[in-house]
Amino acid sequence: MARVALTSIRWLISFAFFVMVSSVGFFWQYQSQMLTTNEQQFLLSEITNSEAITVERRLYRSLSATDILAIEIKQNNGNFTDFDTYAQAVIDSMGGISNLQLAPNGIISQIHPLLGNEKAIGHNILRDDSRRNEAILAISKRQLTLAGPFKLVQGGIAIIGRKPVFFNVDGKDTFWGFTSALIYLDKLLAVTKLKELESKGYHYSLSRIHPDTGQKEVFARSKDRLDDISQSAKIELPNTTWTLTISRASLNSKSNFFAYFVSLLLGLLAAWLITYLQRQPELLQLVVKQKTAELEKLAFNDHLTGLANRRYLNKYLEQFLFEQKRYNKTAALFYLDLDNFKRVNDSMGHNFGDQLLTQIADRITKSVRVGDVVSRLGGDEFAVLLLNTDSVNSISKIAEKLIEEIKQPVIFGDRSFVLSTSIGITLIPQDGNEVLELLRNADMAMYSAKNAGKSRYSFFNQKLQQQAIERHRIETELVTAVKCHELVLHYQPLVELKTNKVISLEALVRWQHPEKGLIYPDRFIGIAEDSGQIVEIGYWVIKEVCELISRRENEVDAQPSIAINLSPKQFEDPNLLDNIRIIVSETNIDPRLLEIEITESSLMTNLAEALYVIEQLRAMGIKISIDDFGTGYSSLAQLKHFPVNKLKIDRSFIATIESDRSDHKIVRAIIAMAHTLKILVVAEGIENKHQLLLLKNSKCDIGQGYLFSRPVKIEQLKELNCNWNEL
Ligand code: C2E
Ligand code: CA
Ligand code: CA
Repeated sequence: MARVALTSIRWLISFAFFVMVSSVGFFWQYQSQMLTTNEQQFLLSEITNSEAITVERRLYRSLSATDILAIEIKQNNGNFTDFDTYAQAVIDSMGGISNLQLAPNGIISQIHPLLGNEKAIGHNILRDDSRRNEAILAISKRQLTLAGPFKLVQGGIAIIGRKPVFFNVDGKDTFWGFTSALIYLDKLLAVTKLKELESKGYHYSLSRIHPDTGQKEVFARSKDRLDDISQSAKIELPNTTWTLTISRASLNSKSNFFAYFVSLLLGLLAAWLITYLQRQPELLQLVVKQKTAELEKLAFNDHLTGLANRRYLNKYLEQFLFEQKRYNKTAALFYLDLDNFKRVNDSMGHNFGDQLLTQIADRITKSVRVGDVVSRLGGDEFAVLLLNTDSVNSISKIAEKLIEEIKQPVIFGDRSFVLSTSIGITLIPQDGNEVLELLRNADMAMYSAKNAGKSRYSFFNQKLQQQAIERHRIETELVTAVKCHELVLHYQPLVELKTNKVISLEALVRWQHPEKGLIYPDRFIGIAEDSGQIVEIGYWVIKEVCELISRRENEVDAQPSIAINLSPKQFEDPNLLDNIRIIVSETNIDPRLLEIEITESSLMTNLAEALYVIEQLRAMGIKISIDDFGTGYSSLAQLKHFPVNKLKIDRSFIATIESDRSDHKIVRAIIAMAHTLKILVVAEGIENKHQLLLLKNSKCDIGQGYLFSRPVKIEQLKELNCNWNEL
């Protein structure tokens, strides 16, 4: 009886082992599958968004051509004598356009280039069933409208941007016709990486909701269908929206089945082993001991701290370096070694040492981002793999934070201990692309940190380290620069080209460094933006300028307004508007004498926020200029949504205006467009008389540049010899 019971218990134990081992295997496989899937989804979404933005930007840029043609037509009252030369120049400068068309009253009358497109001449868009709806939409909305993609009369698939042009005839807006830009779909897609992605196993589709049928229409796709893991991104275009979907076959599926199968086998094996061993109790003990030791070696966890162990870090690094090459990932590997741990451990005992290590592990984990890999390499050594790092500056910040955290006293009962750590840092991919090499770099850097006096960090790469130190020095010195009155403002005049009178000044900050002399903003504004100090500097500039305006109100009768530069980081300051209000009212100035310059790119990245701030500033009476226009990604057509007074064409266009015909045309188009919107145009960086002449001929309103004056101290400005009539 007892024997039967014993056998059943043995069977039960074996079965339990089977279930346990198989489930652990299943669970482990499921977890790692989820992890890979999530990673793939994230990557796909990055790729999809980036491709969608490429398509959107390319199209917007190409479509600006219709605006330029429309302006030319309006200026010439509907006549266009040198259409072919003009159209070719626009095609050259905008890129991506296959041909440009004019269609007075909806009938295509001119196409450039004509060759191969002859069939389309005389085609009436308003009578064509497949085009009429989109054309009528363009007229009724009075907006540039994107038609297609559709098959062309002359062959090929294309998209057409149609801009309706209206003339003012006897006080009434009358439809003149269309200016159109035709873009071949395959040319547009050639600027993307979609083909390259397809060759790497990705699949894609580009679709829209067809305006007539209301059905989804896929108009471009990879040879194979989309897979189960996919991501979509919207491409917002004039009066239509496209959807780009990119997918990738799950990397798991085949290996999944195999892994589950292996788990099952392992379960059976474990059950068999247990059954076998239960019959040999003395052997059992020995084997169990052996297996436990092996399993421990195989595991990825550090038992004491619960962190990943060295084995896991090696594996992870291997995988990371493999993907890094493909997707240009960046990372930094930190090697941490506690400075005085051995002493504490020896004097206080191992139990106490273990508790200390657990606390340190906790602090490290809390100081880095959730996705970063923290591991204990053994003893008092730790490693952190920081993923997706950007600047050396931000990496240094994390190292500083870790050092600071670990320095905080550890309290046990009524005793407290202070530890410190030295950190060696190596950058991926700059410093290497092999696991061993990177670990060695980080280790070497750690030793150099120890040699330099412990409780500090050191970069493997000397040059980068120098840069980091330099940036760090500027950052720390900037803190006192504001307080010690080391910042100064220089002023550069903006000259009205018609009258040669100074109509405003731009305030430009400089740093009068006690040892290094005058430092220009290019060397410290970026650092101040990263560290957030730009907010304080920005207020100092506004205050300084308002006080100057207030002083001069008593001294001179009619003074020019003064412009200051607003950094994108200042938009993020919730107190910006209130503080400007306070400064303006405390200095009691006429706000119309204050101007604020916002760069085109900061406007585009914070569009909603920026528009709100601009409207509020304008309501106060402050004038607004768009700075560095032409370097961002706004199209000319978007200009009408920006409620600004002035537009400053970026220096780079003026620098090449003499040599580059297309730059000259763009400048002329910008000026004409701005004038129709009643926005004044400033040309930045005028350095010679020839540039000035070209700009005057193009009806530019205001000039700024070394030709008139460099930025100078306010006192020197009074002495300026304003004999610009002779220029
Ligand atoms: P920015 O706003 O585009 O300022 C015009 C820059 O062009 C100034 O450089 C000016 O000296 C330079 N410049 C003017 N005319 C000519 C010319 O004919 N030829 C050439 N080659 N350059 C010319 P600066 O003073 O070095 O300032 C550089 C940038 O630093 C500014 O570009 C602006 O973005 C930033 N900055 C200057 N002051 C401030 C400030 O108070 N706050 C903020 N946030 N940024 C500032
Ligand atoms: Ca500026
Ligand atoms: Ca500028």
